[in-house]
Amino acid sequence: MALRTIRLEGDPVLEKKCRKVETMTPRLRQLVEDMLETMYDANGVGLAAPQVGILRQIVVIDVGEGPIVLVNPVMTMQEGEQTGDEGCLSVPGLAGQVTRPNHVIVEAFDENMKPVRVEGEELLARALCHELDHLNGVMYTSLVEGELHEAQYEEDEEGEEDEGNK
Ligand code: ZN
Repeated sequence: MALRTIRLEGDPVLEKKCRKVETMTPRLRQLVEDMLETMYDANGVGLAAPQVGILRQIVVIDVGEGPIVLVNPVMTMQEGEQTGDEGCLSVPGLAGQVTRPNHVIVEAFDENMKPVRVEGEELLARALCHELDHLNGVMYTSLVEGELHEAQYEEDEEGEEDEGNK
């Protein structure tokens, strides 16, 4: 496993659409492993392949409930609404308010190309929306209501939830 370099906003690779994965090759399997390692190393809750310069439809997410690997993900249901701060590993140190559906279902394949279905609410729904947007070249900064502000990484004991970086 190896850490990959996270591309930063302004890098054209982040504005391109990703191609589907037809076959899980050893190289793509390595990419998935590296993406997980890179995400955890950066204390992120999600990472999409274009963020490490690879234009393939692969995302990894972990909102604290264990790793989720999604290949060729498609959102098949979204409902409700949530508005809250969002961050991105490609836009370090900043956050901004984004409105997202509060409940989504995503159908995809896992790293073994086995079909998987992920249902998420709140933070997981937000992470799924954020990462799937990356596969279409959409940065959350284009969706922010108002201004970006400095991210606050809270580790207080009052249960204030950190929306995390994706
Ligand atoms: Zn992001």
